[in-house]
Amino acid sequence: MKMARPWRRMPASAHVLLLGMALCAATAVSALGQTSPRTRLVILGTGTPNADPERSGPATAVVVDDQAYLVDAGAGIVRRAAKAARDDHIRALAPNRLDMLFLTHLHSDHTVGLPDLLLTPWVLDRPDPLTVFGPPGTKRMMDLIGQAWSEDIAIRRDGLEPHEHNRDAYRSVVHEIEPGFVYQDSLVKVYAFPVKHGSWAHAYGYRFEGPDRTIVLSGDTRPTDAVVEACNGCDVLVHEVYSAARFAGRSPEWQRYHKAFHTSTTELADIARRAHPKLLVLYHQLYWGTDDAGLVKEIRAAGYTGRVVSAADLDVL
Ligand SMILES: [Zn+2]
Ligand SMILES: [Zn+2]
Repeated sequence: MKMARPWRRMPASAHVLLLGMALCAATAVSALGQTSPRTRLVILGTGTPNADPERSGPATAVVVDDQAYLVDAGAGIVRRAAKAARDDHIRALAPNRLDMLFLTHLHSDHTVGLPDLLLTPWVLDRPDPLTVFGPPGTKRMMDLIGQAWSEDIAIRRDGLEPHEHNRDAYRSVVHEIEPGFVYQDSLVKVYAFPVKHGSWAHAYGYRFEGPDRTIVLSGDTRPTDAVVEACNGCDVLVHEVYSAARFAGRSPEWQRYHKAFHTSTTELADIARRAHPKLLVLYHQLYWGTDDAGLVKEIRAAGYTGRVVSAADLDVL
């Protein structure tokens, strides 16, 4: 794919990960003889700031073999991951294995799960610090979270809890990134691309190239050709969306906001038609009274004929 910036060097932390992931599982074969892909998308949270009890805050995992690459850290992220690990037997999502995160932008709904993701897996024996890739501002946010919980960290680290083996795993290793190639290990190559999310100076989508599938996530954005270019026939395009049909019922002030920050079903149909994903996944949905079937119907009515699903929390795709 075309990239605006030259490739960046692999971060030092990646070398450590390479060691840990040298042994890759072969493509899994089920009892029925069907092969499941090594590169999977696990939807941890499809939510928005609306506190829908059925939809945790925005968080997604690209899972390759036993490693999860988390994208965004909405409310409930660790518990959703624990449920996927337990119920779907996805070992990569066991809380003590959650050690890699890519942030699309720093909106609160995408980041309120950060202290949970930083600290809970540490308490539950994650061996290493949390590696975080994100836009400028990420380091400050992670540093301030460490400060905010400094008393808790000191009591757990230096008190009676046995953390000799992972004394420093409460820390984060932050890479503030620019669009372009941002990370590679033996399982994935990751690119960030700039998206247009209202007045945010830095908001990214991500392209994950796994051993057998390429997954592209839009992050939060109004329609942008950057998504079309990043997908360009990708296996899975995960895109945010709001209901074009219900948009008319919003106040003029909110309409102005949504147009600048987000993408309607009608607009997404056009993006997907040009991006040619093998599967289009709607997430971070704003329903305003319609439902998943309603959103898909709107995408169809706008002329998109490819495969499309409107995701629910804990879908594995
Ligand atoms: Zn946002
Ligand atoms: Zn959002």
